[in-house]
Amino acid sequence: MSEHIVKEDLLRSGDAPERVARINLDAFRHNVRVLAGLAAPAETMVAVKADAYGHGMVELAAAALEAGATALAVLDIPAALALREAGFTVPIFAWMHGPDADFDGAVAAGIDIGVSALWQLERIADAHGRLTDAEPACVHLKIDTGLHRNGATVEQWPGLVTRALELDAAGSLRLYAAWSHLADASPEHDRDALDAFRAAVTVAEGLGARFVKLHLAASSAGIRMPEARFDMVRFGIAAYGVSPFDDETAEELGLRPVMTLTAPVVSVKRVPAGHGVSYGFDYRTTRETTLALVPLGYADGIPRAASGRGEVWIGGTRYRVAGRVAMDQIVVDVGDAPVALGDEVVVFGEAPGAGAGAGAAADAGAGAGASAVPTAEEWAGWARTIGDEIVARVGPRVVRQYVGDKAAGAERAGEAEAEADAEGDAGAVESWVVADPEAMHALGVQFAGRLAAGDVLVLTGELGAGKTTFTRGLGEGLGVRGAVTSPTFVLARTHPNGATGVPLVHVDAYRLGAAAELEDLDIDFAHSIVVVEWGAGMIENLVDGYSELVIERPRGDSGDGAVRAGDDGAAEGAGGEVDVDEPVEPRRVALYRRGAAGRALASGETAEPAGERR
Ligand SMILES: *Cc1c(COP(=O)(O)O)cnc(C)c1O
Repeated sequence: MSEHIVKEDLLRSGDAPERVARINLDAFRHNVRVLAGLAAPAETMVAVKADAYGHGMVELAAAALEAGATALAVLDIPAALALREAGFTVPIFAWMHGPDADFDGAVAAGIDIGVSALWQLERIADAHGRLTDAEPACVHLKIDTGLHRNGATVEQWPGLVTRALELDAAGSLRLYAAWSHLADASPEHDRDALDAFRAAVTVAEGLGARFVKLHLAASSAGIRMPEARFDMVRFGIAAYGVSPFDDETAEELGLRPVMTLTAPVVSVKRVPAGHGVSYGFDYRTTRETTLALVPLGYADGIPRAASGRGEVWIGGTRYRVAGRVAMDQIVVDVGDAPVALGDEVVVFGEAPGAGAGAGAAADAGAGAGASAVPTAEEWAGWARTIGDEIVARVGPRVVRQYVGDKAAGAERAGEAEAEADAEGDAGAVESWVVADPEAMHALGVQFAGRLAAGDVLVLTGELGAGKTTFTRGLGEGLGVRGAVTSPTFVLARTHPNGATGVPLVHVDAYRLGAAAELEDLDIDFAHSIVVVEWGAGMIENLVDGYSELVIERPRGDSGDGAVRAGDDGAAEGAGGEVDVDEPVEPRRVALYRRGAAGRALASGETAEPAGERR
């Protein structure tokens, strides 16, 4: 996100110390997968409101969809529009609207709108009347089941439903769902709310409503109250690896921390016994000791309420914050430990070097006898708040740094884009403009005729570019067995071919950390046709030559807020896997030959129009 890039530039120019929130996208995807598995057959919507609880909205939204989420939730319309502009085509749900809310924008962009009041219905219908091309917006009517924030009261509910039905009949909107939000006050209260929700749905159905979806549960009920899952669970905090419960930790729930807040030690000094530390001298040294200064304060999200209580982790040991948390810094008394300038201080999250496997956070990088890195929940305890607030309050001076496979993939896509920008299609042996997903599929079908055993095709393009759609066409053209879907979960999928004996191996290098892992897949390159999504930068070590298809969105198209008509729920893939790779705006596809490609895939001489093999 540009905001982050600006901060990284600052960092490089030396104006800011390196306060970093490492965001582990693998951990996040793991959590979403665990939660989606738990919720199934209910769908999983992931809440990326408040900049994904402080983690970064666009990056986390992409990772959520890769891991099985089928929809995204944000607070309001501006955030929903920002996601659409970033290229997300899945349902995006927004439910907080003030009197000046941009309902025109929401309707035009096909946002799913949470509605709590009559005036919102009227505004949505008016917006639809003004917009000639827009589909009617999917409206999710909210009933207040006791939380008493927004949502119609029991008294208002029949009127709201009746008006929604009228506007639905007039074609001005689509009455799509009924929903509510729980107070998490107690299991008994939540059961009462569940009863109230069911009663409201019954009332609405009595008035003629036929809801496509019902949704009620967020993390807490999504995990512990199966009867509240209905058609969809709106998971938030649990996906970020923070437990929604007081009596069960994230680790016990099988969830991994996603955010790790760190900074380097920027000063160490020896001081004698009896000296006060930080504002007010709430803390005094009791012996000669070393004080380490950490450039994170309450402006960065360290709660001042945790003064004198919070603990940080340096080199395998925990140290308590000495005295008050200041705006920009904290001091820790490290005794005689050999803590040095530049040592990494971890406030909460995973230990450095952890992250490869679940549960590694406790001791990786620290050696035997090391103490665990504090969790966001522990900080919440020290500050008498909840873990949600600890991650969401991390301030704007802290650079979000993405680790995990997506980070690598995005970089590679960025490089490809930059390359293409610089040279247009120069160097490409062939290029196409592809109008829509059908055309992308057809290109795949046609391209199959060029491929034979030993060929390697790398697909490069950002999430949503159409790589999987293309490969699906390819599989069809080759006549292989098994539905071609995104190989996100299996890394590589082999589709046998009864007719030719040459299988199609479909690899997602996106999730591979390094070329070595690609090698570990033990692909029989000589006797297969191998398609590698995100393979550039890895495949070079394994084969002498290959072809690369670079799929791009046209410049400027996604940044102007233009609505992509026909962009309707293209997000479902076979087998429950998410495939947001459905192009709805034209794509530019360019074919390059890389290395010593043995065969000229680029020659237009297809052996036979592959589409006819079906
Ligand atoms: C924040 C929010 C969620 C997600 O809640 P968590 O407790 O973080 O899982 C779901 N639905 C609504 C309406 C919310 O405001």
